[in-house]
Amino acid sequence: RAKDAGGNRYELADPDSDARAIDRHSLTNHLPAALERDEFFLEYQPLIRMSDGHVDGAEALVRWAHPVHGRLGPDRFIPLAEHTGLIVPLGRWVLEQAVRQACDWAVGRTLRVNVNLSPRQLHHPDLVPDTIAVLESAGVEPSSLCLEVTESALIGADADELKPLWQLAEMGVDIALDDFGTGYSNLANLRKLPATTLKLDRSFTQGLQRHPADPVDVTFVEGIVSLAHALGLAVTVEGVETEHQADQLRDLGCDTAQGWYYARPAPAAEFGRDWGCPSP
Ligand code: C2E
Ligand code: MG
Ligand code: MG
Ligand code: MG
Repeated sequence: RAKDAGGNRYELADPDSDARAIDRHSLTNHLPAALERDEFFLEYQPLIRMSDGHVDGAEALVRWAHPVHGRLGPDRFIPLAEHTGLIVPLGRWVLEQAVRQACDWAVGRTLRVNVNLSPRQLHHPDLVPDTIAVLESAGVEPSSLCLEVTESALIGADADELKPLWQLAEMGVDIALDDFGTGYSNLANLRKLPATTLKLDRSFTQGLQRHPADPVDVTFVEGIVSLAHALGLAVTVEGVETEHQADQLRDLGCDTAQGWYYARPAPAAEFGRDWGCPSP
């Protein structure tokens, strides 16, 4: 998977590599102007409570409406923004948009919004004050926000570096460990993290699609769910594409699910229409 190669995928030797290098350079240069010109937009994907199939929240996912290249997914530009530091203002914009949207949707119902944080945002001194300011100005409860951080971003973080996340968690903000199971975190360290939710990576969901399901994946999901629950953490599964996967993951005790089987990420208006929370 391209994602496994992470930021190094542009360095793979393939016929496109020159074109990609140029592309990467020009994309990087255009990021600041793109933010000023409002070329980024968010899509939302529902998080489904497995016990009753109700929508529990939405993950905000950023996209770039590039004037020349068309619509670009976050894997194309988030690593570049992370590298240059533009992720800090871009991430703040995402947080503000998503929280305001949650406020619109929350009229008459409880709907949480999940926002992805990159490592650079995590280590930025403004994370806590910015988050508080955004929640206050939108009038949104901290418990309506979930910040997603990858376990790999937290590997090696010392107690001082985790302080901002603890502060947010103490305010009531949910913290999810994204792409869980792909890093190499020491499971015992889970107790030292302010996480409230584990988001099991899509690769495990894929293992369950085989007939018969990969027994290692089944065992892994079972083990993670029981460990998570014992620690008081909820489990969300990513990348649920079929009913077969959904049934198995529900039987294995997963709490929340996300994936194409339920819905693809969609613009706010479409999300509101499909999930019964039109903006006022
Ligand atoms: P993620 O946070 O793990 O988000 C889940 C990704 O899985 C999304 O890809 C989503 O569209 C995709 N997905 C959802 N359901 C399915 C499914 O059933 N099958 C498959 N094959 N894929 C599914 P997307 O939108 O391309 O985002 C990729 C990554 O970019 C995200 O992974 C996240 O790490 C990052 N990202 C997205 N938005 C932001 C943002 O605002 N800030 C930061 N820092 N990172 C972001
Ligand atoms: Mg995420
Ligand atoms: Mg994820
Ligand atoms: Mg993932």
